[in-house]
Amino acid sequence: MYKALSPGAIGVQTPTIESSIAAAKLGGFAGVEISPSQIADRIDRDGAESVKRLFDEAGIKPAGFGLPTEFRSDDVCHGCQFPLAVDEPGIFCRWCLACG
Ligand SMILES: [Zn+2]
Repeated sequence: MYKALSPGAIGVQTPTIESSIAAAKLGGFAGVEISPSQIADRIDRDGAESVKRLFDEAGIKPAGFGLPTEFRSDDVCHGCQFPLAVDEPGIFCRWCLACG
């Protein structure tokens, strides 16, 4: 177990992976919560090894991340009962719609 920074939870703006890592180092954390979209975009651009190297060289672990699902919502999918994401109109989640 290790301590990880959740920048958004304390109002710290980290618009890049590098700024997230720097904030974690500054605060003495061993990990930082990541933005899946930031990571995915960077992997598309520079490759997975490049992204892994950012964390390895800083000695910071990529920790948890948020999901696009609004788990606090009362709106659940009528197919699988999983909470619907905020951008999912209707009564079925995108996964149930995709599977038919
Ligand atoms: Zn579903």
